[in-house]
This record gives sequence, structure tokens and C-alpha cells, in this order.
Amino acid sequence: MWNVLEEYTKIIKSRKLKLTNARLAFVKAITSMDKKHFTISEIIAKIKENEGHVNIMSCYNILELLLKEHLLFANTLDGKNVSYELITPRLVHVRCDYCGKLYHLDDGVLGVHNKWWDLFNELANKYSVELEHYKLEAHGVCKECKENDKHLGDLTSIEQDENEVENE
Ligand SMILES: [Zn+2]
Ligand SMILES: [Zn+2]
Repeated sequence: MWNVLEEYTKIIKSRKLKLTNARLAFVKAITSMDKKHFTISEIIAKIKENEGHVNIMSCYNILELLLKEHLLFANTLDGKNVSYELITPRLVHVRCDYCGKLYHLDDGVLGVHNKWWDLFNELANKYSVELEHYKLEAHGVCKECKENDKHLGDLTSIEQDENEVENE
């Protein structure tokens, strides 16, 4: 089985960053969360639970370091609160805009079908950029919201309207 903690410590060492006790405790916490999205307070609580004590200032410093090193993704799913999640080379969120429920498209499947990777890489190459990972957010309406008629309208018509204006 893929060991996320081991993978993280390997990357940290390969980047010549010191794996201090505080950093190791932080990485242990984020790789053992029972949900995909978590806040900094949840990370701090987890460290306290695991280690018995926590230095909050150093947590913020480590958070900053991991974000800078692209070892954590930050999401602002509701436009206000930031949540974090572990990195993955291919990440696609699909969000229901009506209830806010968030789905992950299966990373395993995305890895097998490299079409998107190839497409994005080809596009990025046009700007002389080589793709290292992608993270997408798609929006839609979930089954429940559609059934409850929360679904107000459909943005797919917008593009069409714009074209009509252009054609006039
Ligand atoms: Zn996510
Ligand atoms: Zn919904």
C-alpha cells in the first residue's frame, strides 16, 4: 500500500529541508486526517491529540512552508474559509453550486486515462511550461438539488448567447 507519510518525508528530505520534530508531527497529522479537507485548527487539534502538546506558532510556519513547497493544496470552497488537502498530481473537484457538496473525481481513474494530462501538457507547452500537476474545480448541480428544484438555471446557455450577440 502507498504510504503517504513515507512519501511526504521522502519529498521533504529530497528538497534538503530539515525534518524537525515539529515538521514530522505536522506531516503525521495531515497524512492521518479522516477527511480530505481540513482546516488549520483541525491540524493543530490533531497534533495535540497525537503528541500531547502543540506549538501553534510553529504550526503556522510549517503550514506556510508546505504551501510554498506545493506540498499542500489550499482551497477556498465557500469563498471565505480556507481548507487544506494533500497533494496529488491530478485533482478534480466537482462542486454542487446549490448545496456546496464536493466530490472528487477518482484520482486512480484520472491516472489511467492520461488524455487530460496530455491535453493540458500540450497547452502548457505552448507557453513553454512543463506540466507538473493539475488541480481543477468543476461546478454543477447534484441529484438532490436538481430534484428539489434548487437548480435555477444553466450556465451552458451563456456561451451560446454571447455568440448570438457577436453574430448580430
Ligand atoms: Zn479536495
Ligand atoms: Zn447539491
